[in-house]
Amino acid sequence: MFTLPELPFSYNSLEPSIDETTMKVHHDKHHATYVTNLNQALEGHEDLLNMEIGELISNLSQVPVEIRTKVRNNGGGHYNHSLFWTLLSPKGGEPSPSLLEKINQSFESLSSFKEQFKKAALGRFGSGWTWVIVNPDGTLGIVDTPNQDSPVMEDLPAGPLRRSYSKASRQGKQVILGLDVWEHSYYLKYQNRRAEYIDAFWNIVNWDTVEKLLKS
Ligand code: MN
Repeated sequence: MFTLPELPFSYNSLEPSIDETTMKVHHDKHHATYVTNLNQALEGHEDLLNMEIGELISNLSQVPVEIRTKVRNNGGGHYNHSLFWTLLSPKGGEPSPSLLEKINQSFESLSSFKEQFKKAALGRFGSGWTWVIVNPDGTLGIVDTPNQDSPVMEDLPAGPLRRSYSKASRQGKQVILGLDVWEHSYYLKYQNRRAEYIDAFWNIVNWDTVEKLLKS
């Protein structure tokens, strides 16, 4: 059985960047529903119910084809949101010198990194996520995925939810940062102004988590 993790901070502590109501609905309703639907889809599949969520969604070919899309969407939703909460912090701050060096190596500067990330997050049509990944050559890259897909999902044969990003970036498996750009993550406060939500995100990034993921 998969369970909803608690938020590592209080609902109102990300204000004004993300408002209390959005956090309540996002965690208690949206994320909770992904968990409920995932458990429901996997009913009777004890082996799959006992897997780590990251292991499950990176091995979707092991999931029976008749429930695979449900597991992909809801398992991805559970995995992505569980990770996302740990990437946010009321304290905010700046990347450490070593992390900054890594960012500079890949994107020239922190501001150019933020600019490229914003471009990808704004360019994601409809619902999805924008990610920072570690490429096979060790450099950092920015990719975006539709729906609740994650870069850690393996490359499945063509299907209705085939990921839309390039083949080169699909090889990146290690995720170190991500932003939910589904409207449910910002609409109550920002309405259609996704750009403002992306700008506010930089005030509440948990750079300690990013660094930990980079070193893992
Ligand atoms: Mn969400």
